[in-house]
Amino acid sequence: MTPLEQLIDLTRTLGQPQNEYVIIGEGNTSYRLDGDSFLIKASGRGMRDIDASGFVAVRFAPILDLFDRVGDDRAALQQAMIDAKADPSAPGRPSVEVTFHAMLLHGCDVNVIAHTHPVAVNGILCSSRAREFADHRLFPDEAVLCGPRSVFVPYADPGLPLAAAIRDEVKVYMDEYGEAPKVILLANHGLIALGQTPTEALNITAMCVKAAKIFTGTCAVGEPVFMSEADIMHIYRRPDEIYRRKMFVG
Ligand SMILES: [Zn+2]
Repeated sequence: MTPLEQLIDLTRTLGQPQNEYVIIGEGNTSYRLDGDSFLIKASGRGMRDIDASGFVAVRFAPILDLFDRVGDDRAALQQAMIDAKADPSAPGRPSVEVTFHAMLLHGCDVNVIAHTHPVAVNGILCSSRAREFADHRLFPDEAVLCGPRSVFVPYADPGLPLAAAIRDEVKVYMDEYGEAPKVILLANHGLIALGQTPTEALNITAMCVKAAKIFTGTCAVGEPVFMSEADIMHIYRRPDEIYRRKMFVG
């Protein structure tokens, strides 16, 4: 399958109503084509029945340049995003979140980004326990798939302010762990999964949603009992788990 076909598949799967990951035009996905450009969902398109017309190819360089223009007015930034299309005559405009997609694909050396607003995850991210969920792990498969912890980003205005906030928090994580995160949690907003392949991005999303449901369950029953830092790193770095993680990548 071509990158576009794989991205259509991933986006439709994420958009299945029974998953409760997104409704209407929520969420967006992207796929690196090469060092210069990537595909991203077009603004306003629904995920569940998306086709090739729902994606646009965008160049990295002009989008990454926007990080130096945080103070510019909205109209100028929007025009710059449209001008960044690889083919200016192609229909559609990139999602308003194109800035964080470009930054993560470029800076984290991953190929696929899946951003959703799952009901189960947002039930926590819209609560006072959001950071607690991001900072801890409850069970081994969560640590294996979602990494030793998630990056937590306090609420920021969608678009460039949010992208800049994500960049700052991801940098702290990468300095600490020496590798890119698997999961970024946006307060009062949603989930970002970073994968080498569409399958990995899908698996990370599914595991994060499962962990969210379990976390909520533990809060209802009593208090969550988290894995220790030592147990998390032991399972995360274990050679057989690294092998198993590779098998999840697909
Ligand atoms: Zn969003």
